[in-house]
Amino acid sequence: MRRVAVFGATGSIGTSALDVIARHPDRLRADVLVAGRNVDALVDLCRSHRPAHAAVAEESAYAALRDGLRAVGLDTRAHAGMAAIDALAADAGTDTVVAAIVGAAGLSSTLAAARAGKRLLLANKESLVLAGDLLMRTVREHGADIVPIDSEHNAIFQCLPDSHARAGLTRIQLTASGGPFRGRSRAELAGVTPAQAVAHPKWSMGPKISVDSATLMNKGLEVIEAHHLFDLSSDRIGVLVHPQSLVHSLVEFVDGSTLAQLGLPDMRTALAVGFAWPERIVSGVAGLDLLAQGRLDFEAPDLDAFPCLRLAYAALDAGGCATAVLNAANEEAVSAFLQGRIAFLSIPALVEDALQRMSHAAADSLDALLDADAATRAAVREAISREATP
Ligand code: NAD
Ligand code: MG
Repeated sequence: MRRVAVFGATGSIGTSALDVIARHPDRLRADVLVAGRNVDALVDLCRSHRPAHAAVAEESAYAALRDGLRAVGLDTRAHAGMAAIDALAADAGTDTVVAAIVGAAGLSSTLAAARAGKRLLLANKESLVLAGDLLMRTVREHGADIVPIDSEHNAIFQCLPDSHARAGLTRIQLTASGGPFRGRSRAELAGVTPAQAVAHPKWSMGPKISVDSATLMNKGLEVIEAHHLFDLSSDRIGVLVHPQSLVHSLVEFVDGSTLAQLGLPDMRTALAVGFAWPERIVSGVAGLDLLAQGRLDFEAPDLDAFPCLRLAYAALDAGGCATAVLNAANEEAVSAFLQGRIAFLSIPALVEDALQRMSHAAADSLDALLDADAATRAAVREAISREATP
């Protein structure tokens, strides 16, 4: 029996993880559920999964969570605050953690789970972008075990399950759907709205990653993620736009072979791989009917219309704290765009400006990275308040 803690339980990945868990009462059990602030949604999930512990990040929501659990007759223990969440990530009552908090807010619990040597189903790509060297070192030193949940990295993991499979590897190619604005010129992106940006053609996801997909920053974050997960330099990581989102990524070898993993665009496949690997379990996702799908198309990304992908490669190559700066600037810019405070094209402009202006100190400690994150957020917020319409 795998005892699972789901961090970000009320989100898109969290609910998909709980859907897979509910299909396997004989081998999976959700013992810890964690959310940001949505107490009602969390209590609802607790009614179905009856975990031992439930937690919210927002400290002021503690009483509402405790009373809500009691009101529906559950003996689930309530917790609140980041320290409580980190303690639950390390708690010996679970062996598996689904890291699906959105943004840099997920780093601390992800690191705590790695330090406790758990199986880490890592969806929270921002923790690798912010502190990839540190997180991968922590995983190695504490015997933790990462299964990437991002569909592209999960595909590569399935193609390269161990070091033998990597013999003769030349490069990998991450596929990208291209997002809702694929094919538009830069000028045609000027007036797009948050509602248009989050309406992804193929994947149903939380608002932040949906905007990242629309700017192609998501693919840029994924290039950095792949660099850390698979220990590859940026020149060995390519990006291929594939609008049908059925080929989830490819790996290429010296002998001319290319391996790929295919499937319908539904994150439950990656989550089932994470829970059961090296076994395979039912995920609720149907098999792929290529005759019904008809065709697979591929094209090069348009870096003029979507400069975020280029900025992410530049940050990876710059090293030091640059990817922490990239991530922090992007999180702040996306949040302001979702609130209707800045234009879509201001997202890459703010990120580029932050990369040029912020110091790229060596990333030799968690403190240095968190300092770069905080300083970047402050600078970008100030730039946004100058730009935003009152
Ligand atoms: P979402 O917005 O749907 O859910 C985010 C979850 O995090 C919610 O449960 C929210 O309550 C919780 N949360 C937010 N701030 C928190 C905090 N400070 N402390 C604790 N919990 C907090 O997001 P999502 O789409 O599920 O994405 C989650 C992560 O998975 C992101 O890093 C994203 O990039 C990654 N990811 C998602 C998908 C997808 O299909 N949705 C695919 C690949 C990777
Ligand atoms: Mg992805």
